[in-house]
Amino acid sequence: MTYAPDLQQVVTEIAEEMRKRPDRGDVATYIPELARADPSKFGLAVIDAQGRVASGGDADEPFSIQSISKVFTLTLALGRIGDRLWRRVGREPSGSTFNSIVQLEYEKGIPRNPFINAGAIAVTDAILSGHKPREVLGDILRFLQFLADDNSITIDEAVAASEQRTGFRNVALANYMKAFGVIENPVDYTLGVYFHHCAIAMSCRQLALAGRFLMHQGRNPSTGFAVVNPERARRINAIMLTCGHYDGSGEFAYRVGLPGKSGVGGGILAIAPGKASIAVWSPGLDPSGNSHLGRIALEKLTHRMGWSVFAG
Ligand code: GLN
Repeated sequence: MTYAPDLQQVVTEIAEEMRKRPDRGDVATYIPELARADPSKFGLAVIDAQGRVASGGDADEPFSIQSISKVFTLTLALGRIGDRLWRRVGREPSGSTFNSIVQLEYEKGIPRNPFINAGAIAVTDAILSGHKPREVLGDILRFLQFLADDNSITIDEAVAASEQRTGFRNVALANYMKAFGVIENPVDYTLGVYFHHCAIAMSCRQLALAGRFLMHQGRNPSTGFAVVNPERARRINAIMLTCGHYDGSGEFAYRVGLPGKSGVGGGILAIAPGKASIAVWSPGLDPSGNSHLGRIALEKLTHRMGWSVFAG
C-alpha cells in the first residue's frame, strides 16, 4: 500500500529546489513598475480539500496579480449578466500573445477569450456598464477580500499609474473594440478599472484562498456559501485550462495538467478540482509571458502529488 506524500514536505522541497535554480526567466519591463521585481523571489502556497495550508519560500509576500485578476472579473461578469457575456467575448484559445491585436480585425472586434487582454478589457467593460468606475473597482477588490477572508488586500497604485502611463497597446485594443461597439463605456473609464484590477497585490497564500471556490464546485469551503453554481465553476476551470496561459496554454496543460491562470507579475493560480487551490509566484517570465519557475514548480507539484486532471 502506498501513502499519499506529505504535502508540506513536498512544498518545502520544491521551494528549496526553485530557490537554487539559476534559470529564472525575465522580469516584465513593459510596465516600468514591474521591472523592479526581484527575480530571486519564489513563493508557493497550497490549500487542500480539508482547508490545510502548505506554504514555502516567499508565500506571504504580496506581488502584482496582473492577469490573474481576470479569473475574478470573469466570475463577476458572469454573475452580473450571465451567458449574455458570450455575445461579446469568445471562449476559444487564441494561440496568440496576450496583447495581440491582429485577431481582433479578422473577428470583428470580438476577442477570442476572456483572458487575453482584449477579452479581459471587454469583460471589465461589461461589469462597468450602469455603474461608476470607482464603485466597480470597489466591488472587484471587495470580492477578492471576501474570497480570501482578508480585508488587507489592496491595489498597488504605483503599478496602476505605471500601466496607465504606458499601456498604449491596451488603449489601442480598447479603441478598436469600441469601433465595433463591443466596448459600451468611455474607453478611459474601462481601462482605468482594468489597469487598477490588474494592479491588485496579493500573496500566494491570499490568492490560493481566493481560488478555493473553484476547487469546491463553486462553494467557499469555510463558510459553505455558494460563490457560483457547480456548472459555472466547472466552466471557469475549463477556460483556465484552455486559455489561461495564452499561447503557452497547450504546453501548460501538457506539463502541469491543471486549469491555471498566469499574470505578468509572475504569479499563477492553479486549481486541482476537488483536491487543491494552488498559487505560485516567481517574477521571471518565459517568452509567452508566463512565470518560468512557477510553471516548473507546478509541474513538479502535480507530478509528486498525482494531481493532473488527466491522470484519472
Ligand atoms: N495588465 C497587463 C496588461 O494588460 C496584464 C497582462 C498579463 O498579466 N498577462 O498588459
